[in-house]
Amino acid sequence: MEPKRVVVKVGTNVLTNKDNRILGPILRELVRQISVLYERDIMVILVSSGSAIAGKEVLGDTRIKDPSVRRQVYSSVGQPRMMRHYYSIFHDYGMRCGQVLATKRDFDPGPHRENMINCYEGLLAEGVIPIANEDDATSLTMSMFSDNDELASLVAELLDADSLIILSDTDGLYTGHPDDDDSVKLSEVKGDQDVEKYVQASEKKEGEGRGGMESKLKIAKGTAKKNIPTYIADGKRHNVIVDILDGKDIGTKFIH
Ligand code: GLU
Repeated sequence: MEPKRVVVKVGTNVLTNKDNRILGPILRELVRQISVLYERDIMVILVSSGSAIAGKEVLGDTRIKDPSVRRQVYSSVGQPRMMRHYYSIFHDYGMRCGQVLATKRDFDPGPHRENMINCYEGLLAEGVIPIANEDDATSLTMSMFSDNDELASLVAELLDADSLIILSDTDGLYTGHPDDDDSVKLSEVKGDQDVEKYVQASEKKEGEGRGGMESKLKIAKGTAKKNIPTYIADGKRHNVIVDILDGKDIGTKFIH
């Protein structure tokens, strides 16, 4: 039987603490779960953000005035830092990982798309865990994804994944503010169910990641429509990926 494929997207807010520092234990817990699944013949394709914040951690405030160039520079410094972390943790688990960076244009029909599929298929056939991110150093405006949630959805579709798991800093979609006593978590959202009304406003600073709950809902519904069940769950929860795939009631599941 072909190994199952699960795309796991991890956002900047999961990978960092309140001081915007990258958290080693979180990366290790992610990789540990990926190694557990690997033993069960489930291949994870990891879509990891964090390049911008990892670069900002190193460079701090810069002399660069243009915010787009600043983001490019932060990401250029931060992406190899993220990969160094992942590389060494995967190595500790006796596993290998590879990097696949893309811009939105690469997903258009044509040779780039084909090349990307071939690369992913090659990595997966070799048992190498692909780690995807946007090519933030070069992608600007037209070639930019709205956020990594969109990238993760496109990767899931590209590789015909069995499911998509979007790890965030909330444990799913609530009917009100997650801290309110009378708001409840939705376990399942079906089809076009109107759940957008539940979304709370949020604010983010530079490098902290672009996607919010509103875009997550859109992406989750859109991906589910393509027959790829999609989950939104708390990325800091112990064993979250394995528990979801074991069918536990964790996060919010979106189905067609
Ligand atoms: N690609 C960006 C990064 O790695 C994150 C984009 C997003 O927040 O969705 O920093």
